[in-house]
Amino acid sequence: KKMRKKIVAGNWKMNMNLQEGIALAKELNETLTAEKPNCDVVICTPFIHLASIAAFLNQDVIGLGAENCADKASGAYTGEVSAEMVKSTGAQYVILGHSERRGYYGETPEILKEKVLLALKNGLKVIFCIGESLEEREANKQNDVVKAELEGSVFNLTAEEFKNVIIAYEPIWAIGTGKTATAEQAEEIHAFIRSAVAGKYGNDVAEETSILYGGSCKASNAPELFAKPDIDGGLIGGASLKAADFKGIIDAWK
Ligand code: PEP
Repeated sequence: KKMRKKIVAGNWKMNMNLQEGIALAKELNETLTAEKPNCDVVICTPFIHLASIAAFLNQDVIGLGAENCADKASGAYTGEVSAEMVKSTGAQYVILGHSERRGYYGETPEILKEKVLLALKNGLKVIFCIGESLEEREANKQNDVVKAELEGSVFNLTAEEFKNVIIAYEPIWAIGTGKTATAEQAEEIHAFIRSAVAGKYGNDVAEETSILYGGSCKASNAPELFAKPDIDGGLIGGASLKAADFKGIIDAWK
């Protein structure tokens, strides 16, 4: 396990204005530059924050990412932000397939497939989110759901391309609800996801793929989750909005 990259990534969602976002990024920058983390740290912020944060962020210590990008390369798509634009701010990552994008903005597997291709083509690393609803979990369909999400949007990639994909398993029933999957529940499906990656790309690629857990992850439950063999870190929503909370999760890798 500890051969692959350990990652703690924050997903700020639609929180914090520019000044607040800069203040949080500065605080994290100072803290983590002074005390180097034992994992890769990434903050994914609203588009409008990216360039300002990139201007001072020590990206040897904290990576920067967007929370979305367009499914088109450029042109007459009012209000959209392309992968190339994201990359040009100095960001290196993009979250794609978040359940809020799928659920509230109608992002289908086909749309996500295009977004993933454009992100990778523009040199971004993709944090690709998958995960089942409560209904699907209760019907014991979680494995089928996550496999279909992988097949629908990322298993078309070449093995070389897939190396720039980080998977985030986020059960929808655990996002922002305070209800975390147990470490055992999470490990079970992470192992399944890794086996699905192995089935498609072989064991070597599967062993190198980082699979993050997301859903009400916080400093108190991160150590137990991260100790599991197939959990390589976390994608953090609510607890990424305060430097001390986020640092508490990063410290789970100590
Ligand atoms: C998320 O939406 O990516 C997430 C993990 O949110 P939270 O930590 O708030 O549950």
